[in-house]
Amino acid sequence: TPERGKDFIRQIIDADNASGKYKGRVQTRFPPEPNGYLHIGHAKSICLNFGVARDYDGICKLRFDDTNPVKEDVEYVDSIREDVSWLGFQWEANPFASDYFEKLYFIAELLIKMGKAYVDHQSADEIRENRGTLKEPGINSPYRDRTVEENLTLFRAMRSGDLADGECILRGKIDMAAPNVMLRDPALYRIKHADHHRTGDTWCIYPMYDFAHGLSDAIEGVTHSICTLEFENNRPLYDWCVDTLMDGLKQPELFGENSAIYEDLAARPGLKDRPWQYEFARLNITGTVLSKRKLIQLVQEGHVSGWDDPRMPTISGFRRRGFTPESIRDFCDRIGVAKADSTVEYALLEACVREDLNKRAPRYMGVMDPVKLVIENYPEDQVDEFDVALSPEDDSYGTRKVPFTRELWIERSDFMEDPPKKFFRMGPGREVRLRAAYYVLCTGYDTDAEGNVTEIRATYDPETKGGWLEGGRKVKGTMHWVSATHGLKAEVRNYTSLFSVDNPGAPEEGKTFVDYVDPDSLEVLPECYVEPALADMEPGVNFQFERTGYYCSDNKDHKPGKTMVFNRTTTLRDSWAK
Ligand code: ATP
Ligand code: MG
Ligand code: MG
Repeated sequence: TPERGKDFIRQIIDADNASGKYKGRVQTRFPPEPNGYLHIGHAKSICLNFGVARDYDGICKLRFDDTNPVKEDVEYVDSIREDVSWLGFQWEANPFASDYFEKLYFIAELLIKMGKAYVDHQSADEIRENRGTLKEPGINSPYRDRTVEENLTLFRAMRSGDLADGECILRGKIDMAAPNVMLRDPALYRIKHADHHRTGDTWCIYPMYDFAHGLSDAIEGVTHSICTLEFENNRPLYDWCVDTLMDGLKQPELFGENSAIYEDLAARPGLKDRPWQYEFARLNITGTVLSKRKLIQLVQEGHVSGWDDPRMPTISGFRRRGFTPESIRDFCDRIGVAKADSTVEYALLEACVREDLNKRAPRYMGVMDPVKLVIENYPEDQVDEFDVALSPEDDSYGTRKVPFTRELWIERSDFMEDPPKKFFRMGPGREVRLRAAYYVLCTGYDTDAEGNVTEIRATYDPETKGGWLEGGRKVKGTMHWVSATHGLKAEVRNYTSLFSVDNPGAPEEGKTFVDYVDPDSLEVLPECYVEPALADMEPGVNFQFERTGYYCSDNKDHKPGKTMVFNRTTTLRDSWAK
């Protein structure tokens, strides 16, 4: 495990607190765009942003970055709230960037008045061509020197709805020769006649990410704006937007009749002690893709049953698979926060959930691939009811009642007609323990025409009640079992990795990541038998099938009173490390 000292973000906050930079204020935000469901990478950002606020007695807001109406939807808004809450975090407030559309518009006009922004009528292609390259400086737009008056008139025309998408854009007037291409007169506003999930058709111009993001941070009073490394190049633009607004606030005369907006902005803590952006390494894990664009493709093309398919690396997928919020938070703790990109083994995530469930999951017996075992000397109408502990260690879990009858189900793989010496399970003439019940001695078996075992016979020793023989002979093997008369039928869903390779995000020539989807990654066992104690289990409950794995009742298809549906969260041991 990596060092668990303070990460570099917390070190920065410590230094800022020591210098009095924000007078002790610590404020972060988690800023998802509601254009998809959250994935495990987002969990890392959530744990960091909310964790910092918790550790420093600060504030963390959940802010929806909803500046791109075309791809956004309330379904995503709802799912994001659900996922953040489920992970165990509470936001101080839940604003939307669209709450600031009016303010952002005025800030854009302010920039125009300051001579820091202009309306450009070049086509998108021309703008791209004239931006230059890393080696070549860009070329100034012929519209770059429009007067303030002309720019204001044009920008207001953009807002009025009279212009078509793409006809012109508002650009920051920075430096077409800047070494950082981001600073070559970046787009600040674009025309988009589209219905926004919150503001409807109020707006037909929308702010660009860089403009909206830094300014929303400043408006809210964020101190430490934490994002992933791919935004490192955007940082100077973030700074330019915030600094330019702060400069503008020194010129109240520019606000004219909008003095209320001026006073509102000028009073905000984030525009006195401005926010700064810090980048950390995004999470990558083996065997999957962490990109909303790719995940949405898996859903839309039907490779999975939905965003919450238990094979999806989404938070809702992990939840449905049976991962606990504690295990995901523990995972995020263990991987730490670094400045260099790396890839974490999926096995670490599994180890975290195993460790958590080993402590907490109650134990039950379930037979996945049943074959009949008949106890010949056990009376047909007799039932022994065993009280069996739900937890091997914690008595407070109590016990459940497990009925034992003449006919039982056992695991087909627990019997061999001609077992080798080291096979400590059932075979003709061998004695084994039926977990918590009795020793049974195998006396014979039947097969069908194809040679498949159809029934196994045994006798039990009444002296071994409870599965023990005081001071007597010992048996090596212990097997799980379910009463054939009392057991309940269940559907069990076993999952393996959705992708057949370690890095589906880097496909070989001519392939794409979907070519690596493993069609056998879901195995449905339609006829399993489980203890009657599971009868009234609610959806979404974690438990262990002894000797088999950690499972949970499916949070969609498992309905009390109907056929039970259980998802395998993970195997008991790391099969990957074999
Ligand atoms: P994707 O790249 O998957 O489409 P995104 O970065 O566009 O995701 P946002 O909704 O913009 O998704 O992200 C919200 C926050 O989560 C951002 O601060 C972003 O940096 C962070 N984030 C996204 N992906 C990861 C990741 N893999 N690891 C850590 N943080 C991430
Ligand atoms: Mg994004
Ligand atoms: Mg992204």
